[in-house]
Amino acid sequence: MKKTLFLNPPSYEGFDGSAGARYQCKREVRSFWYPTWLAQLAALVEGSKLIDAPPRGLKLADLLPLAKDYELLVLYTSTPTFPNDVRVAEAFKAENPALTIGICGAHVANDPERSVLASPAIDFIARKEFDFTVKEVAEGRPFSNIDGLTYKVDGQAVHTRDRALIEDMDQLSWVTPVYRRDLQIKDYYNGYMLHPYLSLYTGRGCKSRCTFCLWPQTISGHNYRVRSVANIAAEMKWARDNFPEVKEFFFDDDTLTDNIPQVEALAVELGKLGITWSCNAKANVPRKTLEILKANGLRLLLVGFESGNKQILINIKKGIRLDKAREFTRDCHELGILIHGCFILGLPGETKETIEETLQYAIEINPKTIQVSLPATYPGTFLYQQMKENNWLQREGTELLSDHGTQHAVVSYPHLSSEEIFEAVDSFYKRFYFRPSKMAALTFDMLKSPSVMKRQLREGVEFFKFLWGRENAA
Ligand code: SF4
Repeated sequence: MKKTLFLNPPSYEGFDGSAGARYQCKREVRSFWYPTWLAQLAALVEGSKLIDAPPRGLKLADLLPLAKDYELLVLYTSTPTFPNDVRVAEAFKAENPALTIGICGAHVANDPERSVLASPAIDFIARKEFDFTVKEVAEGRPFSNIDGLTYKVDGQAVHTRDRALIEDMDQLSWVTPVYRRDLQIKDYYNGYMLHPYLSLYTGRGCKSRCTFCLWPQTISGHNYRVRSVANIAAEMKWARDNFPEVKEFFFDDDTLTDNIPQVEALAVELGKLGITWSCNAKANVPRKTLEILKANGLRLLLVGFESGNKQILINIKKGIRLDKAREFTRDCHELGILIHGCFILGLPGETKETIEETLQYAIEINPKTIQVSLPATYPGTFLYQQMKENNWLQREGTELLSDHGTQHAVVSYPHLSSEEIFEAVDSFYKRFYFRPSKMAALTFDMLKSPSVMKRQLREGVEFFKFLWGRENAA
């Protein structure tokens, strides 16, 4: 095996752009997803090392001395950070010209030719589901014999045939031992999970076809492929025993509840382990299933409601009815399952009236916490294509982010400007949270637990700073 370094490159201060973030930006409160896609590679390549620079606060100058210690460097990139990541590759190549450098991620999977030609420092692009592609590069196989690779011959891009998606997901090695070896788990936060938390995948792909959603459209597909329950349960037992400090395990599969028999069987095994867990879910899980999950340690569901307007849900192919989502949410409230609800403002069909409709819907269904985003318009998605064709996209690429790494409003409609959408996000947060009943509920939670109080006060300060910063930026 080549001596391999997997690197989540340094970029903006506090930037959550890791190989685990569904869209890359500096968020309202300090947040870092685990670099799970890179950890998966590190788990497959013996003797490798994973460095996740942003949460560690590492700068390029801290990392360059390592360039001579390795034979292979693999970077995970994204649309807004690609130019920055190319500069990182160039700096490493300058330090060690013998270093082979590859890049993976949805952005390069969507445009491998331009990506590999973007710089002489880039030797290859690992396209689509890149795990075994990178493993074979690390094994030293000739590039021409490796499926799923784009590389250069005489300055021209050459593509080997596509690699088939992994069917037997148990072939993938466990990521949690890599976390233990290479990461500091206290670095990973988000506003709605217990801290410290740990997240991993039990499968890939999503049956749904939401037009804005990046990974199923670029890397992992629409067939939800899962590891065996026995394999997952064995890893969770290992993780529970080796991370006694972890308060919550998060299953970051696109939609863990897409496969009901699997999630029910998994829950029973998790129940035996006595761990607290949470996952992504669609707002259509049957009550009977929710009861099984809750009885076996489920604490929270992260749910993409996106909009309270029926036509917008149709426009984005969400595949969810508002009445079903209301019923699901009611069931969760009754069973004591917390919900972190995600909403997006500025999707096709949005007007000032639909924004108000979505706010009233959010207040009515009342998730415990919410996240309100602007549309992330990444190449490779149906939404991006639609925005381009209709001339609704004002900026793209690196301009998706401000100078500080926060999300820019990039979508503008003839009847609704990007500024109005941008301002609506602040107003949505304020009107959702600054209600007497919500404030009272949050205060009650803080009084119940000193650790919750500490975290919520810290996040509250960050949140106010975020709103203040946006007001000044608007
Ligand atoms: S349900 Fe969630 S993960 Fe699946 S395509 Fe829609 S947004 Fe993406």
